[in-house]
Amino acid sequence: MFEALTERLGQVFRRLSGRGRLSERDVDEALREVRLALLEADVHYRVVKTFTERVRARATGAEVLEGLAPAHQVVRIVRDELTQLLGGRAEPLRVDPPWPAVFVMVGLQGSGKTTAAGKLAHLLRRQGRRVLLVACDLQRPAAVAQLEVLARQAGVDFFGVPGGMTPPDVAKAGVAHARRGGHEVVVVDTAGRQHVDEALMAEASHIVEAVQARQVLLVVDAMTGQDAVNVAQAFVARMRIDGIVLTKLDGDARGGAALSVREVTGAPILFAGTGERLDGLEPFHPDRMAGRILG
Ligand code: GDP
Repeated sequence: MFEALTERLGQVFRRLSGRGRLSERDVDEALREVRLALLEADVHYRVVKTFTERVRARATGAEVLEGLAPAHQVVRIVRDELTQLLGGRAEPLRVDPPWPAVFVMVGLQGSGKTTAAGKLAHLLRRQGRRVLLVACDLQRPAAVAQLEVLARQAGVDFFGVPGGMTPPDVAKAGVAHARRGGHEVVVVDTAGRQHVDEALMAEASHIVEAVQARQVLLVVDAMTGQDAVNVAQAFVARMRIDGIVLTKLDGDARGGAALSVREVTGAPILFAGTGERLDGLEPFHPDRMAGRILG
């Protein structure tokens, strides 16, 4: 997703390295190009502005310009600030006791929420956890069946109710089932909608309260560009969100918007979705992602 950005930044830094000694003007020129590369990659303009200001403040001091290998140091500062932009340190999922630890997945329809629920269950099972997947997406007719299939593929237990119950009641019944069954982790899939609206927020919030969720994970589609940022902002402003799952990072969209989500919302990115398969979910490491982008 970040190939074009990586290529552009690589060019900027190669040119800078070819200079030997650097003046403040050289750094400014390079940063102007970094700024353009980020904007072209669809990084949010406010994020680009604060990012380049932070880099500039650190990179134009005498210590850097008059030190050894100044270009190398500028690149290091860019890497450092990019890591900070993406959240600094990796935030772990809080699966420790008391059990069951309940995770509620929220997000728009099509964001990859149900898939992410299945992937998360798969990941946790591989870590040796007893996992229960609970289907509370009662809006989309196929979602319950889809989650059941994912549960089977992931080798985890499934809880769904054919009908007649409200989503918060299904969630509560699911957690009670997990208690009886000795499950350590419960992953609850909830309904999505086409747009962020009050009904969506209210239903999700009721589920979160009903099960006393350990963490509420917002699933955001990285392919949707700035919409992804707007959606994340709307959710964070209106309900409890503890972390973000960025899906479809394997896509060929420009991807820069995804880089802005953490900075704009303040919510940490916990996982990245990297494919349609069950094993396509990775814990998000800001430093590794920054390294990957910088090539
Ligand atoms: P939901 O409506 O939010 O529950 O969305 P789904 O989980 O049904 O996913 C919508 C579509 O996105 C499906 O075709 C998934 O296979 C696909 N999808 C989900 N996550 C990823 C991902 O990380 N990468 C890719 N390429 N596709 C994904």
